[in-house]
Amino acid sequence: MELLRHGLKHHNVKYLTWIVLLLIIGGSTNGMMSQTAPTSTLTFSSGTAKNVVLLIGDGMGLAQISTFYTDKKQWSGFDEFPVLGFQKTYSSNNLVTDSAAGATAMACGKKTYNNAIGLDSTGTPCITILEEAEKKGKSTGLIVTSSIVHATPAAFLAHCSSRNQYEDIAGDFMKTDVDLLIGGGMQYFDRRKMDNHDLIDTLKERDYAVFDFRNQNLQKVVPSPKKNFVFFTADNQPLPASQDRTYLPYAAKMGVNFLKQRSEKGFFLMIEGSQIDWACHANRANLLAGEMQDFDSAIRQVLEFAKRDGETLVIVTADHETGGLGLIHGNNKNQVEYAFTSNGHTAAMVPVFAYGPGAELFSGIYDNTAIYQKMRQALGFN
Ligand code: MG
Ligand code: ZN
Repeated sequence: MELLRHGLKHHNVKYLTWIVLLLIIGGSTNGMMSQTAPTSTLTFSSGTAKNVVLLIGDGMGLAQISTFYTDKKQWSGFDEFPVLGFQKTYSSNNLVTDSAAGATAMACGKKTYNNAIGLDSTGTPCITILEEAEKKGKSTGLIVTSSIVHATPAAFLAHCSSRNQYEDIAGDFMKTDVDLLIGGGMQYFDRRKMDNHDLIDTLKERDYAVFDFRNQNLQKVVPSPKKNFVFFTADNQPLPASQDRTYLPYAAKMGVNFLKQRSEKGFFLMIEGSQIDWACHANRANLLAGEMQDFDSAIRQVLEFAKRDGETLVIVTADHETGGLGLIHGNNKNQVEYAFTSNGHTAAMVPVFAYGPGAELFSGIYDNTAIYQKMRQALGFN
């Protein structure tokens, strides 16, 4: 009902915009054109979002999402989105992308080669949506269930020819003013092999509040909005959801509220369900179920915030599908079995779900690079 009302309201706004535009065009011939009205009206009609939350389920294709419905669950966060689209995930050098090129496409709007982090296909660094949001005074954050220097989060903040250069990527993080980081990979900051720098000291010198899993429980730390906040959830990779890793939904809820308080100008946040991909590489349906439920809970937390907030565009998508997952006939009638046809990534299109101001931009079929363009458009960046 709420969605319906929202949709109708938006429709009326669009309709009104056309009337206003016609009046302005008509008026201009009579020398009555206002200097300011057209811009503000147009901006409003395109549904400007103050905040964007981009949720990426790594390796999450349509079959992975369909597991919710074959498990006879009645409802998931995915059911709430009024706008759906599909993105084509191929990279600049391969029909089957990896997470580095896939995330770079969404972060920078550039197709690049597999393995590249925040570089275009010629190797030139590209400015990411997160960096641009930061420049515009918005607060920014990354929340993941992998290490924070893993390909997907890295592509939003680092610029590196190879995704495996974890210590270089951690070094690039020091060049930014990102407000919030939650994920694993602590060892790439404080036990570096390439140099003796302790980047956690560097973060603290730069007025970051830094916490980690060894001394604190994330759910018991109350971050002050007066400081940037980093929480390391593991030395390297966090555990799978099925082994009691539960922080993602909590971090999502805390993250949106924290970032909202951090800047009056809005925020950009990327949240990744990183291990959906790993479950599918391993062809393990049980692991996949745990990761999907965890990611779905995070989606619901963000939607709850966005519904209250009214100025937040929420996008849920993937970088690619992993495992060539098929949902096939089981032994019994009404039973479905999971069949993986690959232990790698596939070239299948992946779905895009959108809610909030600017959501309508995300309907249709487009390249992964368009996610970047559409987010910028929704945010009113030019
Ligand atoms: Mg990833
Ligand atoms: Zn993968």
